[in-house]
Amino acid sequence: GDWLGMIGGGQLGRMFCHAAQSMGYKVAVLDPDEYSPAGAVADMHIRAGYEDPDGLARLAARCKAVTTEFENVPARSLAILAEASSVSPSAAAVAIVQDRISEKAFIVKTGVPVAPHVAIRHADDIRAAPPELFPGILKVARLGYDGKGQARVKTREEALAAFAEFQSAECVLEAMLPLDSELSVVLARGMDGRTVVFPSARNEHRDGILAISTVDAVSAATPQAVAAADAAVAIAQALEYVGVLCVEFFILRDGSLVANEIAPRPHNSGHYTMNACVSSQFEQQARAMAGMPLGNAGCHMSAIMLNILGDLWFDAATGAKREPDWRRVLAVPGAKLHLYGKADARPGRKMGHVNIVAATMAQAEAAAAEVAGALGIAFRP
Ligand code: ATP
Ligand code: MG
Ligand code: MG
Repeated sequence: GDWLGMIGGGQLGRMFCHAAQSMGYKVAVLDPDEYSPAGAVADMHIRAGYEDPDGLARLAARCKAVTTEFENVPARSLAILAEASSVSPSAAAVAIVQDRISEKAFIVKTGVPVAPHVAIRHADDIRAAPPELFPGILKVARLGYDGKGQARVKTREEALAAFAEFQSAECVLEAMLPLDSELSVVLARGMDGRTVVFPSARNEHRDGILAISTVDAVSAATPQAVAAADAAVAIAQALEYVGVLCVEFFILRDGSLVANEIAPRPHNSGHYTMNACVSSQFEQQARAMAGMPLGNAGCHMSAIMLNILGDLWFDAATGAKREPDWRRVLAVPGAKLHLYGKADARPGRKMGHVNIVAATMAQAEAAAAEVAGALGIAFRP
């Protein structure tokens, strides 16, 4: 089969490998770590840094198409690879979305609302920020994820202190919005510009990390979900995006929809597609980068995804290390366990997820409650 290239060795790369390999592709993964979740299952692991010229040259020589699994890939590396190989998404698209300042400006240009915000380059920008931005959130413009590089700031003074703590890295200060709920749209756009959109997921975050995604196959098409899907497609078109992309949205208490951020890759909230949809987000990623027709994004089951964090390896009462009870999880009908092969469980680290699928949402909820009980995850439908 043809070779596909992946920059990044994390779990998203691992699940991509599985999907691509099942269609007969071979996958080369570029990652500096001796062990990485994706490197361990790839057909070839190129052990080099993401900017290493030799590593990039080997990847481009081997692969007819290259993509990435993390948004902080140096856009320059994508540009270098594009001279020898087909690269998607483009360096230009990734460069826009990996900086919160240009990301928000771009979203606004497509006509989709974002949270009121200002760019913070100097402490004076905080002093000059409009009072409506407090209470707010200060977010580093680059490299933040899972709520890292963010501070909730009630006052201007707190924002100045947080900015200093972030070593005056470029930030955005945005207003803390009254959220009703969170929703995300994962889509795939092919080289021909055709777009397929997965049913949107409702997301629950805990401590800034995604905990639970819920997709009701029957009633996924609420007015807000339809508006979010339209907005996500508009953003993908405007970026001339090729590949899988996720747009995270907030639904505010007044019902209005606000785009939060774009991920230029498959997304944690799209993991449910592995078991509830005809084609998973990872299969779509492989199809898109290879210039193949996209698959059916339809959802044949209702689904609940529970993230498995490293916390579950520690007894809540005693703190003692233990292995979660996978036997009890696998005994639940409709439960599909996905572990990423990470050896060291640390609190807050994404170790895997469980997809629970069922014909109806009520059944999925009952089964998810059982899985959550077995693992010690708080869950209320
Ligand atoms: P990810 O892991 O999704 O990339 P991230 O570190 O980039 O996360 P955000 O998505 O910006 O961070 O924020 C994380 C969570 O914090 C959001 O999902 C939401 O729950 C909350 N949050 C962020 N911004 C706001 C806001 N302006 N108003 C209210 N809540 C917010
Ligand atoms: Mg983010
Ligand atoms: Mg986010």
